[in-house]
Amino acid sequence: MTLPVTPVELFLMKPSIKSLTLEELQQHFAARKAPAYRARQVTDWLYKKRAATFTAMSDLPAETRAALAQAYSFVRPEVVRVLGSKDTTRKFLFRLADGSLIESVLIPASPALYGETSDRRTICVSTQVGCAYGCKFCASGLEGFSRNLTADEIVDQLLGVERESGEKIDNIVFMGMGEPLANLTNLLRAIRIINAPWGLEIGARHITISTSGLAPQIRKLANEPTQFRLAISLHGATDEVRSRIMPVNRKYNLASLLEACDFYVAQKKRLMFEYILIADVNDSHEQAHLLAKHARRLSAKINLIPYNRVEGLEWSRPSRERQESFLRALREHGAVATLRREKGHDINAACGQLRLQTKRASETTPVEA
Ligand code: SAH
Ligand code: SF4
Repeated sequence: MTLPVTPVELFLMKPSIKSLTLEELQQHFAARKAPAYRARQVTDWLYKKRAATFTAMSDLPAETRAALAQAYSFVRPEVVRVLGSKDTTRKFLFRLADGSLIESVLIPASPALYGETSDRRTICVSTQVGCAYGCKFCASGLEGFSRNLTADEIVDQLLGVERESGEKIDNIVFMGMGEPLANLTNLLRAIRIINAPWGLEIGARHITISTSGLAPQIRKLANEPTQFRLAISLHGATDEVRSRIMPVNRKYNLASLLEACDFYVAQKKRLMFEYILIADVNDSHEQAHLLAKHARRLSAKINLIPYNRVEGLEWSRPSRERQESFLRALREHGAVATLRREKGHDINAACGQLRLQTKRASETTPVEA
């Protein structure tokens, strides 16, 4: 087990080699009068051959490897727990260099993930340690916010899960712990590395960012050239309902959020709504009618997700009939909507919860390594 470093040491640490783009590596070599093709050799070692150390990069001259090691760090987050089996959702708990715990979830090929046929293996990735937005139903926000993840800590979740599981991931959703748009710079850098032909080569249409509704950042995303997908966690069709469960709505109310979405859609970009169904909170027919109206305005598809219980919280999912009747009401009002029906593929059941359980357990017993 590697010893955790303090936050100050973390700040003083060299940048990670896995946070660099190809262009930045080219600049590194240009500054040292080394040939430009060295940069591509390094990215091949990192993302194609999955080297674990600078020493393993055997076709680089020894002095080149030494210069890299002097300028950059090469860390790998430690996998401290894996839950689940090959056929079901698998959850991976990572310990970062400063001892922080984050989790990623691997979802196997699923016939109906997000209501679409999918033979893809999806990873649900965290973007922050904890979350500052404190949605009342969510495990990730329960213990507050610690820090943003760096770009390499985001990329390393994919590398770590592929290494640990032996599976090739071809779909990524930023629906783990944290609010991705509150960590926009590192998120976009990580997406560049994940999307690039020299990087992990996951197509932009297989990358989905989910946000609780940070209106100014949604406007910023509208101008991004990469065609990733954007999901808006709406969870309420009026300010009254939304503010009750999502404190972020007091900062960016529904009108300002929908205006930012209008702006996004006007740039010829598509978005979708996520709507978790919570019994007696947001599952009335009135909410369905209004939700359908918002979705039609933006030509947005709606993904309904039955709420997953979080230990210690009061909320629960509506009955099967009530979920189906909410879906019918949406369709009757002209919306395109799907309802997640499967068991065992519920990614959100995990996000934030594994970490919470482990943290609580480790207050009495040490975390298994
Ligand atoms: N912060 C971002 C992304 C992480 S949460 C966001 O809020 O969109 C990813 C999705 O999981 C969000 O739609 C969130 O509302 C949902 N979610 C959180 N806790 C859940 C739970 N217990 N059951 C079902 N969905 C949940
Ligand atoms: Fe944060 Fe998203 Fe959870 Fe809200 S739902 S607390 S924004 S992770």
